[in-house]
Amino acid sequence: MEPRIGILALQGDVREHAALLERAGARATPVRRAAELAEVDGLVLPGGESTTMSRLLGTFELLEPLRETIAAGLPVYGSCAGMILLARQVLDGRPDQRQLDGLDVVVRRNAFGRQVDSFEADLDFAGLDGGPVHAVFIRAPWVEKAGDGVDILAHTAVAGDGTARIVAIRQGPVLATAFHPELTGDERVHRLFVGMVRETT
Ligand code: GLN
Repeated sequence: MEPRIGILALQGDVREHAALLERAGARATPVRRAAELAEVDGLVLPGGESTTMSRLLGTFELLEPLRETIAAGLPVYGSCAGMILLARQVLDGRPDQRQLDGLDVVVRRNAFGRQVDSFEADLDFAGLDGGPVHAVFIRAPWVEKAGDGVDILAHTAVAGDGTARIVAIRQGPVLATAFHPELTGDERVHRLFVGMVRETT
């Protein structure tokens, strides 16, 4: 049976994720309310704007249900703003920005922003066959600090100082990338996530 994977559809690039999830063998469905959340086997938090998404999660009364469902082990994949929402702590966030606490990491919001708003890079991604992943970064975060239980899957080099920064991670059933695989049509990250969802269903 195809797993049923929800995409948080309050804001952001929902359609692109749906297309890749379907290609990766899942059934994609939008999630806007708690009742819809209860019916999915996994959830994608898309890119967009984390401060807006955090506010909308409050308006739609999804924040607590989402925190509880993630704590109970729902597989979740967050890209860019989704990675920010999943982190336990955000640097350079808004003071009223709320977190889902799904990942034991500290992320820095708009981290690459001062040098460059958006850029592309080829990344070695642990566990993915078929060569480097071409990654699109748009006002992206990076992971500043990761707890012991967090697997680091990819780094990138920062233009300018050349420091390697963490841009893809996994902690148990929670996956996150600072970049947007849904924008390049490369479905390998979505296949990885669909596989994670299958492991739990
Ligand atoms: N800078 C955005 C934020 O703070 C993330 C950008 C993105 O998702 N492309 O949420």
